[in-house]
Amino acid sequence: MAGVLVFAEIEGGKLKKASREALSIGRKLAEATGGGVAAFANDRAAAEQAGRYGAKKLYVAAIGPYTTEVYAAALQQAISQMQPSILLLGGTSNGRDLAPRIATRLNAGVASDVDRLQWADGKLRARRPVYSGKAFATVEVSATPAVATTRPNAFPAEESGGGAAEVIDIAVPQLQPKAKLLETKTPEAGELTVAEADIIVSGGRGLKEAANFSLIRDLARAIGAAVGASRATVDAGWIDHQHQVGQTGRVVSPNLYIAAGISGAIQHLAGMSSSKHIVAINKDPEAPIFRVADLGVVGDLFQILPALTEEVKKAREY
Ligand SMILES: Cc1cc2nc3c(=O)[nH]c(=O)nc-3n(C[C@H](O)[C@H](O)[C@H](O)COP(=O)(O)OP(=O)(O)OC[C@H]3O[C@@H](n4cnc5c(N)ncnc54)[C@H](O)[C@@H]3O)c2cc1C
Repeated sequence: MAGVLVFAEIEGGKLKKASREALSIGRKLAEATGGGVAAFANDRAAAEQAGRYGAKKLYVAAIGPYTTEVYAAALQQAISQMQPSILLLGGTSNGRDLAPRIATRLNAGVASDVDRLQWADGKLRARRPVYSGKAFATVEVSATPAVATTRPNAFPAEESGGGAAEVIDIAVPQLQPKAKLLETKTPEAGELTVAEADIIVSGGRGLKEAANFSLIRDLARAIGAAVGASRATVDAGWIDHQHQVGQTGRVVSPNLYIAAGISGAIQHLAGMSSSKHIVAINKDPEAPIFRVADLGVVGDLFQILPALTEEVKKAREY
């Protein structure tokens, strides 16, 4: 066994950022295992992009949109052919769903949401945040292949300069899945997802009502950011759960996280405290969010957000 197999997800014809990040760290780990990097995808069109991020081979099963059982069965075939030391999946919804499923099938160990990876003495060593991000645990997966999901934005996506990957077809698994995909809802055109964005503008209960999320959306649009939210606003039905950041939402590590009207409860911090730069806007100077903020603005978000949006627009005009 050697090398690294990466679950490559395509969305809108593009390889997802989480997959590009997994391929990039996969390339480094592969060298240590004495093998190369390959990818697994549902479309041959991924060959060029996966190759650009270091995949020499692309295992392809024409299995359409994601469903757990079919993908797990097809991925297992790719694993039996390649016999990798490590299987990496980006920490997307699908990646997080598929990792434990495939690990169970292979009787393998899985480390989820990892932000550091190392191959040493024939074992995968991974660092993962625990206790809502208050501490880090270093875990070792001794069974092979070792399975891991990578925390979005924790590993840089770096091109390798490689050409298109060689495509190896995998037979479509013949099974009757117990779950069926009924509908796929895609975000509005141009809307970024919090898991992959470099900048996130998040709103909390301080917005007072659903309509005021327009203040967050305006700033996000002006600055090229994704819209995030606290659980309080999601529970109130002001915004969809896909925007929720935190322990029971998305864990994000953008370059810039702007939190407006969010108190900074421990469960929210668990999802964003590893952001590179944090800006908090809150009228309460004692709000816990200021303890993790690099820049704190004590004031009324109804004045600050529109003013900030205007300034960003002006700056962009230059
Ligand atoms: C098991 C469990 C899991 C959870 N998971 C999550 C999770 O994933 N994500 C999450 O976010 N929460 C989660 N929570 C909920 C969490 O504990 C908090 O209740 C929630 O984060 C609070 O949201 P908030 O900051 O928007 O609201 P609040 O705590 O009510 O804070 C509102 C803030 O807005 C400020 N404010 C009010 N008006 C203005 C104004 N005009 N201008 C500026 N500031 C203003 C206030 O000073 C206050 O700090 C979880 C809780 C539990 C028990």
